[in-house]
Amino acid sequence: MSRTAAICHSSHSAQTSGIRKEKEMNHPLEVFKYCPKCGSENFEIHNALSRHCYDCGFTYYQNPRASTAAFILNSRGELLVVRRAKEPAIGTLDLPGGFVDNEETAEQGIIREIREETGLDIKEVSYLFSFPNIYRYSGMDIHTLDMFFVCHADDDAVVNAADDVAECMWIPLRKVYVERFGLRSIRQAVHTFLQRKS
Ligand SMILES: [Zn+2]
Repeated sequence: MSRTAAICHSSHSAQTSGIRKEKEMNHPLEVFKYCPKCGSENFEIHNALSRHCYDCGFTYYQNPRASTAAFILNSRGELLVVRRAKEPAIGTLDLPGGFVDNEETAEQGIIREIREETGLDIKEVSYLFSFPNIYRYSGMDIHTLDMFFVCHADDDAVVNAADDVAECMWIPLRKVYVERFGLRSIRQAVHTFLQRKS
């Protein structure tokens, strides 16, 4: 499942309200007005991370969503870069990756996402670092923690863009330009990765 598909809020009004949607971007704690356990309106912001229901006692915590992305290299020193097929940041460059599913390790998640988006069958990944991000989806600012991995692909590996990816490209590292990546955490990660490589 991709970063877009993994968050399945069916916000019909947000999808149909166009420009208004952009102005209403909000923290989930400001958007969620009712207790998700009992439906009470007596559901107050408790602190920066939670809302508390004064009827049933439930405290809802807004935790960052775990997400992954991969630096996939071949022996020619080329990086596999993809083009985003969907919002947010449609048309900009990205790294393969997406949200971690429930009951999945981050390593399993990134290997699955690589397969879904590029068709590559990667056996092993190594953890690099993480960056927090705010991912705008359906009129809400979804906080994520993006974990980055590095792995290697065979030079003759065939890649096929699928899922949320419009295009796959092998780009020599010296021609990878940070500003062409649309998501903030991905830009930070690409910048850090290139610095370490140089
Ligand atoms: Zn409640």
